[in-house]
Amino acid sequence: MEGLFHEDLAALSDLDEQSLLESLSQRFKQDRIYTYIGDILVAINPFKYLPLYVKEVSERYKYHEKSKLPPHIFAVADRAYQSMMGRLATGPRNQCIVISGESGAGKTESTKLLLRQIMELCRANSQLEQQILQVNPLLEAFGNAQTVMNDNSSRFGKYIQLRFHNSSVKGAKINEYLLEKSRVVHQDEGERNFHIFYCMLAGISPEDKDMYGLLDPTQYRYLNGRYGSEDIVRKWGEKYSEVCNAMDMVGFQEQEKVDMMTILAGILSLGNIMFEPTETDVLKVTGKSMGWLKATAGQFGVQEEELLRSLTCTLSVTRGEAIRRLHNQQQAEDARDSIAKVAYGRVFGWIVSKVNELLAPNVDFDVELNEIGILDIFGFENFAVNRFEQLCINLANEQLQYFFNHHIFLMEQNEYKEEGIEWEMISFKDNKPILDLILTKPIGILSLLDEQSAFPQASDRDFVDKLNSKFKSSPHYEVVRSHSPLFTVVHYAGKVQYNGGGFLEMNRDTIPASIRDLFINSVTPLLSVLFAATISRTGTLMPRKAKVMQKADDNFNSTRKQSVGAQFKHSLAVLMEKMFVASPHFVRCIKPNGNKLPDQVDNKRVMDQLRYNGLLETIRIRRDGFSWRPSFKEFAQRYNILLIKPDLPLTKESCLSILNTTAIHGWKCGSSRLFFKYWHQEELSRLLERM
Ligand code: ATP
Ligand code: MG
Repeated sequence: MEGLFHEDLAALSDLDEQSLLESLSQRFKQDRIYTYIGDILVAINPFKYLPLYVKEVSERYKYHEKSKLPPHIFAVADRAYQSMMGRLATGPRNQCIVISGESGAGKTESTKLLLRQIMELCRANSQLEQQILQVNPLLEAFGNAQTVMNDNSSRFGKYIQLRFHNSSVKGAKINEYLLEKSRVVHQDEGERNFHIFYCMLAGISPEDKDMYGLLDPTQYRYLNGRYGSEDIVRKWGEKYSEVCNAMDMVGFQEQEKVDMMTILAGILSLGNIMFEPTETDVLKVTGKSMGWLKATAGQFGVQEEELLRSLTCTLSVTRGEAIRRLHNQQQAEDARDSIAKVAYGRVFGWIVSKVNELLAPNVDFDVELNEIGILDIFGFENFAVNRFEQLCINLANEQLQYFFNHHIFLMEQNEYKEEGIEWEMISFKDNKPILDLILTKPIGILSLLDEQSAFPQASDRDFVDKLNSKFKSSPHYEVVRSHSPLFTVVHYAGKVQYNGGGFLEMNRDTIPASIRDLFINSVTPLLSVLFAATISRTGTLMPRKAKVMQKADDNFNSTRKQSVGAQFKHSLAVLMEKMFVASPHFVRCIKPNGNKLPDQVDNKRVMDQLRYNGLLETIRIRRDGFSWRPSFKEFAQRYNILLIKPDLPLTKESCLSILNTTAIHGWKCGSSRLFFKYWHQEELSRLLERM
């Protein structure tokens, strides 16, 4: 039993799924929520306050030796920072920290702790660092919501890039992925709208409430008539002042804040407009709805008649002739909801681009910056009904799993082969075929979706029929016999049945010209800017005037709008490009139970997560493998001081003489590089320090 409850599971000699689970859960019961598997950190969500993040602990983990302190998220921050500074080992200076896990597993909390500790490591207490720390509360208010899985669930993915010159931070950039806009107009049982709506209603002063035209929260359909107990409302109120502070800190102007809140108020009023059919096919808005229409028009700063027109009919131009098509009740409601979604989505995109503008590195272009990126992206999702959004989210997870496999298994084992190191292959679940099924051109799921989206007449059924005929023999695809347009993808983490209903529309995501014109003419400056802007291929918002500065490559975007699928695919590709050239650090978050409760381990749930995370195979490769593999040149350059011969030729022989002066053992020598266990790095650093 010795070693079972070890801090580093890669040191376990006797290993199977059961002992892995046992070790983790024993540690968890003693509030040891962090465990290493070699250089990978496993973090189990404690769902309770633990005194793990106080100042004193933060100090202890600065510039520490990994093996001397218990596993900790601060240790990951330290390693990333040290490696970025070139202090730890050879390898790319840019770092990326990949945090994964299912909803509620603790990814966002880990991200915040990492950011905080990295800012601590920078030491200087500059305004920029304070601003960077305020970004999270701001994004969370607008992008997080209560779900059945997590009371503070991130409804968007993000990659935060911190940029450094030498040891100090010079700027930050946020990349956001796929905000779940549908939540603005609809929430499932037990879920809520985005936090900001409740915060605003709870925290705003009575005068401001009047100014924005806000009423009692229970009145709003988009909030489902749900609000909360006094206690909860008080918390929201506090959160509102936090958000306002964060906005001030980051550098938002007063007028921008006012505009933003007015737009949010407008979205709430808009949701209450109902339509009545008449005998003449023209929809009517009467009574209370008329009041809401007036309120919305006022809040959006648009003409009431124009707003009504854009809700009740579509204007299309065919062969130079404008044709007006009247909406039926359903179409009018859809138009209303899509205006709400697009307005909210634009506000969110604008906040992110504003944050990026304010936190952009203020340095000369010829100064080289190093980077630490932190990825906090939505976990794998499998609901009762899975839509286009889930397909994109699960695609992102496939991509991350591939990245993980690539680093941990493929790259490493290929090198053993190439370098003639004796090695018994460790098999792992390669998910490349699933990625191909979704991404391949011209016949992946997304390409077929784009092809169908280009036909105005095509239906979701046609799309699923196409999928069925192309992929029926793929081992990762299953045809579903049903009247509904259903299909199943066998993901690395399990089978997910998708409902193709709405895929085409969601992929097209077009805003009718009349709605764009309506908003461009708004007297609310922010609204008119939001709709005069284009969305770049990477998903960031660009005001029109900045368009000339775009690279030619990006230009076609302003003429031909890309589908949501294509945009997402592109932003994932850009992300992967960055990640593949950085040194990765992995944090695997585990959710101990489905009840969000402390001190409870649901063995089956945890086992499932360990399995699809591939953690068992990871332990084997970390135990038996060589995770640090510098070339002879890299190694000799860094460690020649150990021989006190700075002009040593950078050859294999030099490396071997360096190593022979040390007591380090267990490493191997390949044909062009050396192979070390992950702990060797630290042993060598220690020797360097003693010089
Ligand atoms: P989602 O994918 O839904 O965004 P997530 O993985 O980001 O989920 P978090 O929001 O980070 O999950 O965590 C969910 C909740 O778990 C937090 O609100 C907090 O209450 C608790 N929690 C997470 N990590 C910790 C921690 N280290 N200490 C104490 N509580 C934690
Ligand atoms: Mg989150």
